[in-house]
Amino acid sequence: MKPAPFDYVRCDSLDEAAQVIEQNGDAARILAGGQSLMPMLNMRLAQPAVLVDIMPATDARQITVDKAVLHVGAGVRQADLLAWPGLGAAAPLLARSLPWVGHTQTRARGTICGSIAHADPSSELPLTLAALGGTVILRRGNKRRKVAAADFFMGMMLTDKADDEVIEAVEFPQMPAGTGTGFREVGRRKGDFAIVACAALISNDRVRLAIGGVNDTPVLHDWDTLDPSDEAEALNALAWSLDARADLHASARYRRDLVRNLGATALKEARQCAA
Ligand SMILES: Cc1cc2nc3c(=O)[nH]c(=O)nc-3n(C[C@H](O)[C@H](O)[C@H](O)COP(=O)(O)OP(=O)(O)OC[C@H]3O[C@@H](n4cnc5c(N)ncnc54)[C@H](O)[C@@H]3O)c2cc1C
Repeated sequence: MKPAPFDYVRCDSLDEAAQVIEQNGDAARILAGGQSLMPMLNMRLAQPAVLVDIMPATDARQITVDKAVLHVGAGVRQADLLAWPGLGAAAPLLARSLPWVGHTQTRARGTICGSIAHADPSSELPLTLAALGGTVILRRGNKRRKVAAADFFMGMMLTDKADDEVIEAVEFPQMPAGTGTGFREVGRRKGDFAIVACAALISNDRVRLAIGGVNDTPVLHDWDTLDPSDEAEALNALAWSLDARADLHASARYRRDLVRNLGATALKEARQCAA
């Protein structure tokens, strides 16, 4: 199938994109890397009257670190961030999870913010942003608001972004020195969306496990301390508490098993890297 007819607006700045989106509301869609939107257009699951291409906007391509926060603009492609030399120091968890997003080819086009906007429950980037307590910067015209990732993801492919808003950037806070990180996932084939993904963070005063693919949004679970000898029991209790969904990719039981096993491996990795 081919897309329904649409007008195409090529934006050379984020100002212009924000203006066009504000004027057209739900009749318009941002076009970023096109890795999710183009299939939706081809299948006519989305039929916007106007496509607003933000990729020519050079002011959207910024990757900066300021006050221990990694700021990633709307036009930053996944491959660009992965190749950015500062990534491992600024956001070690993101450096671990990003290679799991799709394939070399899709990362060469897809953006970080596009994945956050798309909000697939099995996506690695919403999970990573939520695990790190990150923020989404939304823009309507010239007005900006910041939304915590925990509030931004509201359901399966449902976010707090209004139709007349653009994601200008996302921010990943740096973790305190000595924080260990781990990331593990299982998908059907390499490069597929995760059936279940687990991101772990371990610091002096907190153990966090973030889980994707099990519910409609990333789930965060914190323990003040978690002795390795208590871990299996804690993960089992967590797996049962999640109300795992069953779909054509996996049963609820298999998802619970993955939470126990991937959770343990991600925590082990984080513990080793914190030591
Ligand atoms: C073969 C294949 C395998 C894949 N595997 C994975 C995987 O394993 N894990 C994974 O997470 N993803 C995977 N993806 C999806 C990929 O990561 C996409 O790149 C991502 O979901 C969307 O980013 P994009 O820049 O391509 O956005 P687009 O496809 O251009 O847009 C997606 C949606 O977000 C909106 N949008 C984009 N940017 C903004 C913005 N700045 N402000 C407001 N709205 C915006 C668009 O309007 C659209 O609704 C895969 C894709 C393919 C084709």
